[in-house]
Amino acid sequence: MPVTDKYNREFKTLRVSLLSKCNLSCVYCTMGEDEVKENNALQHSVSANTLLQQIQQLHSALQLETVRLTGGEPLLYHELVPLVEGLKQTGIPKIKLTTNGFLLERLAMPLKEAGMQSVNVSLDAIDEDAFFLMSKRNGVQKILHGIDAAIAAGLPVKINAVIMKGINENQIIPLLGFAFERNISIRFLEIMAMGFLHHNADKYLFTQEEILNTISAKYSFKKISRSAASTANYWQTADGNTFGIIANESEPFCHDCNRLRLDSDGNIYGCLSSNHPIALNSSDSQAALISKLQQAMNQKQAVKFTGSDLSMLHIGG
Ligand code: SAM
Repeated sequence: MPVTDKYNREFKTLRVSLLSKCNLSCVYCTMGEDEVKENNALQHSVSANTLLQQIQQLHSALQLETVRLTGGEPLLYHELVPLVEGLKQTGIPKIKLTTNGFLLERLAMPLKEAGMQSVNVSLDAIDEDAFFLMSKRNGVQKILHGIDAAIAAGLPVKINAVIMKGINENQIIPLLGFAFERNISIRFLEIMAMGFLHHNADKYLFTQEEILNTISAKYSFKKISRSAASTANYWQTADGNTFGIIANESEPFCHDCNRLRLDSDGNIYGCLSSNHPIALNSSDSQAALISKLQQAMNQKQAVKFTGSDLSMLHIGG
């Protein structure tokens, strides 16, 4: 029996958070160093075999089209390459990754060889000082080298940049220049009310309109059509370069969302707005699994993301 809802939404993309640990302390994920240290002190991480069993269980019920590995920082996951090799055997057509790119330079080629098909790199600044303001770490060059290594390995790369008012809006034009030079895709994200930003994201919100106004100072562009279940709106510049904006706040896209999330504790979530975990169990009958998936489907919002206390560090971006 297909898992769907009254808007005919289905789960076709599974985002798997491999671990809650990260090597950056981005301001939208963490309140500060303490939380990261505490979080990174946790030694336990789920085995690739357990993850593969859970993903296979979900795939057999949903006929997934895409699995996206995320975290925390997925490149810190010690069994990442074997996990990707195992995913290739499941028959899920697309295997993708979302990473901060810090460790990508040496992992790009092994991941490509294992079966990884594309990589989204979160990069909120090009300038070192602005990068530090966003991530509380130095070393943006390491990420830029990681992106170049991924391109050299033949992996399609997309850059995702969260823009926060008063912190990194001056990075929009330099980021565009970097992406256009390499002919890679770039999307800007409006900040979402998650984790400690749940009740004060507004003061950091740099809207789609403000992003477009900023870009119009340097480029002229026109809107192009959005494909179904895409999170982004896209524009094309007069030179033929494209860029996207993920406008969670000003133009929500819940109506055709096809995403299901699995965290590293074996819980599923149907929506970022819900911090109510639904625990999977390897002994679940098909009927029990379908009932849990339907519960997750019922978590989806009709119109827009409503905010959550859960940080993306745990649920996966
Ligand atoms: N560490 C990996 C990375 O940096 O891509 C994967 C996980 S990280 C949580 C994924 C992405 O989620 C972040 O880079 C950022 O783009 C996005 N993110 C996290 N919290 C966010 C928020 N409150 N609003 C908008 N985007 C957020």
